[in-house]
Amino acid sequence: MAGEPQADCLFCKIVAGEVPATIVRESETTVAFRDINPQAPTHVLVIPKVHYANARELAAAAPAIAADVVREAGEVAADEKVDATGYRIVFNTGPGAGQTVFHAHAHVLGGRDLQRLV
Ligand code: 5GP
Ligand code: ZN
Repeated sequence: MAGEPQADCLFCKIVAGEVPATIVRESETTVAFRDINPQAPTHVLVIPKVHYANARELAAAAPAIAADVVREAGEVAADEKVDATGYRIVFNTGPGAGQTVFHAHAHVLGGRDLQRLV
């Protein structure tokens, strides 16, 4: 069920400590850890501890936690000292947009020039 841990979900396993990750921040509702295949000097994923498939489902069901994810993403940028030069927060949503892990997550990217997307 949405909101409950999913046995086959990689990020639920990271939340549970069953899969190791380099955790850089944690809050009551979120965990932030380094991406295993970084696309920039700073590439951190911020996830809600609860399982929702994507950002839209998270925001619809638990808007306060969606806000926590966005706040923590900004705090990661500050911790990593990329807030002054600029950084990007990305929610890939759906396979056509490159989403491969179906547990909502924000990518925080920074530390290099980021090509403008839109
Ligand atoms: P998506 O493609 O769904 O937007 O993002 C999923 C991200 O999870 C990818 O950037 C991928 O590199 C990362 N990832 C996949 N497996 C693992 C893992 O086991 N550990 C960590 N830390 N990141 C992972
Ligand atoms: Zn999950």
